[in-house]
Amino acid sequence: MSLAPSLPSDRCSDSATNIDTRLVHAGRNPDAFGGLVNIPVCRGSTILATSLEEWESGKLPSNPMASYGRFGTATTRAFESAMAELEGGHAAIVFPSGLAACTHSILAIARPGDHVLITDSVYGPTRQFASRVLGRMGIEVEFYDPLIGGGIGRLLRPHTSVVYVESPGSISFEVQDVAAIAEAAHQGDAFVIMDNTWASPLFFKPFEHGVDISIQAATKYIVGHSDALLGVATANRRAWDLLRTGAHDFGQTAGPDDINLALRGLRTLAVRLRRHQDSGLALAQRLCRHPAVARVLHPGLPGDPGHALWQRDFHGASGLFGVALHPMSRAQSSIFFASLRLFGIGLSWGGYESLALPVDPPARSVRPLPCDGPLIRVHAGLEDVDDLTADFSSALDAALRAGSSARPDRVIVKAQEA
Ligand SMILES: *Cc1c(COP(=O)(O)O)cnc(C)c1O
Repeated sequence: MSLAPSLPSDRCSDSATNIDTRLVHAGRNPDAFGGLVNIPVCRGSTILATSLEEWESGKLPSNPMASYGRFGTATTRAFESAMAELEGGHAAIVFPSGLAACTHSILAIARPGDHVLITDSVYGPTRQFASRVLGRMGIEVEFYDPLIGGGIGRLLRPHTSVVYVESPGSISFEVQDVAAIAEAAHQGDAFVIMDNTWASPLFFKPFEHGVDISIQAATKYIVGHSDALLGVATANRRAWDLLRTGAHDFGQTAGPDDINLALRGLRTLAVRLRRHQDSGLALAQRLCRHPAVARVLHPGLPGDPGHALWQRDFHGASGLFGVALHPMSRAQSSIFFASLRLFGIGLSWGGYESLALPVDPPARSVRPLPCDGPLIRVHAGLEDVDDLTADFSSALDAALRAGSSARPDRVIVKAQEA
């Protein structure tokens, strides 16, 4: 058995194969591990060389990772190469959380004095990082309308180095014209960074739309079981050296147990996501008809403002969407959440279990989200969709029945997104 950090060479993972097949085979190399189906959990800091020559070759710029565990072991490399293959990029690097992948991708590109454009619909903690940290580092942040498309060209300045996209947007689910944004950004020599977590590598192909760095919060669908935190950023050739050096300079690394859980999750991603998609769409459609519901935010619904772009660019929908309720009292909201039996109240998403999270209207600089009642972010899990619909609808019924006289019997803490 060898722990040599050679790139995995599974026979079936060539690019001509359907992605469902590649999810099963990517990053695996039984020949290198005594025939084991799965890449083992390889732990280690020190990696010994057998000779001066081997030690020196491990330090070559072309192979800087062979010399120390912080640059990863065979477990790390298997996951990174699988993700690069699935996203369709040149190479990938793992981070200890999705947020770390977002922040370090920006920091790998932006320099003091630069101007960065970030979509107004960005994931809340990324927004906070941009506002609090980038400014402090002398990087000017401007939030732009997620629906701007090619009009982003008007906002580009000579020192704009990053255009950050996220589609659909966090909480508000606007679909962006990523190709048009990327074309304009590249005319100005800026890099396009995309948070591609919602679609996963299955349902949106970032590099076909001109993205330079694509981020997955692997915590969500890739791990898929709510039992690990992990992020991964994949770059094209243009951005790879900047991304890799940027991450290594900060000492970023992730543990092999969590990476192993992500590798395990990958093997069932296609099967799980189709179920999340079907249940999410069915639930969204049915909730549209409930009298307590003002609007369902889901680009897979034909009436959604982002539907046409979603149809043009995406290969499917995940199970995450928003439900805006008609105004109701705080007591009614409490009754609603207390009545749910199958939906948990909690941060994150992408696990096998359904979640309903009360969210504050997201911070916006350009385009506020019109919504005057409670806003709920829903994740459709792998339970039976009729059970999910019945549970959610009867909790809404209970809230409507309760009216404003009801007393809450379960404390609701409004949470930030995760
Ligand atoms: C959850 C999430 C992240 C951050 O992932 P963590 O692993 O929780 O740090 C980033 N982007 C999006 C869109 C997310 O939903």
